[in-house]
Amino acid sequence: MKRIYLDNAAATPMDPRVLDVMMPYLTTAYGNPSSLHYFGQQARAAVQTARSQVAHCLGVKGEDLVFTSGGTEADNLAILGFLRANFPDGGHLITTAVEHHAVLRTFQALEQKGYDVTYVPVEADGRVTAEAVAQALRDDTVLISVMYANNETGMVQPVDAIGALARQKGIAFHVDAVQAFGYVPIRPLEQGIDMLTVCSHKIYGPKGVGALYIRHGLQVAAEAYGGPQEHRLRAGTENVAAIAGFGKAAELLGAERNDRVLAARRLTDAVYERLIKGDARFHLNGRRNHVLPNIIDFSVDGVDSAILLIALDLQGLAVSAGSACEAGAVEASHVLQAMGIEEKWLRSSIRLSVGKENTLDEIKRAVAIIGDAVRKSRGESL
Ligand SMILES: *Cc1c(COP(=O)(O)O)cnc(C)c1O
Repeated sequence: MKRIYLDNAAATPMDPRVLDVMMPYLTTAYGNPSSLHYFGQQARAAVQTARSQVAHCLGVKGEDLVFTSGGTEADNLAILGFLRANFPDGGHLITTAVEHHAVLRTFQALEQKGYDVTYVPVEADGRVTAEAVAQALRDDTVLISVMYANNETGMVQPVDAIGALARQKGIAFHVDAVQAFGYVPIRPLEQGIDMLTVCSHKIYGPKGVGALYIRHGLQVAAEAYGGPQEHRLRAGTENVAAIAGFGKAAELLGAERNDRVLAARRLTDAVYERLIKGDARFHLNGRRNHVLPNIIDFSVDGVDSAILLIALDLQGLAVSAGSACEAGAVEASHVLQAMGIEEKWLRSSIRLSVGKENTLDEIKRAVAIIGDAVRKSRGESL
């Protein structure tokens, strides 16, 4: 059976060109970047190259990036580290109801520590408005964190408007751009973004590495004690091979993003046209504009998403029910709940996320497989 992988928002296949760049650091170039000798210099140079590559992709300086173990750690470092350095005794924080758990659970933990948090509600399409963020502002607001694009629905938030607002009020603004990075050109300096999270394994790089951009001059406190690596913000020996791979993936992204956007949009449009549009059994979660080109999220009337997901997997089609982190959970997605989706659509959502390896032929087969599985689970004749 030739399997079809439509879960690129959970993890992308690694680009072979990325693996090529990583190989030396997994084999012969095993030095520690902190060592002074030749082997150390070799490893240090790899980390520096990657730093420039990721920085270039964002239009920022390499010295303003901290490599982390991924998106989750970067989100935690941004939010907790900023507060620890600047507002250790409390304050008012603003985020949205549809954040990734790496952000949402961090804010929930901060509430336990005595911070006040406003979870700005979203519109029916899953987007917040800058007006809603403005309404949530208080005199003691010290941090705003809004994701660039949602990992479940792909909906893109009005980051520029919120950034302008944050800048005007002098409030720090963090953006989780893990999903958007691969498809949206991001310029933190021009967008009023003070801290920005990206990660590697959603842009065809290896897993276990990400980065936090921190605007020059902004104070952030380290979350772990140890060595002086990463401007003392992320102690511990660098994951050199993964960082080198992340750098290469970012370089390729810069060169190929436009093509990837067009190709992905063509595929998700095909899913929409062939499967969703005009069929009352399907409900599109979100919209087809202000959405990442690679994601299409929908619910299926009368079908449990976990059961459908397994049925599809048996036919060789890999998709996700809501976010990957929630796979297997019986709880309805907090994102769809925040959108006020009708009860009957809440536990029946399927996310298809395409990538640069997918073809239109695969999409046609996937649509046929989903159509059959839906008819079967709804007891309709085939
Ligand atoms: C995947 C993801 C994360 C977590 O990144 P990890 O590298 O898996 O820790 C955070 N935020 C968003 C929006 C994501 O999609």
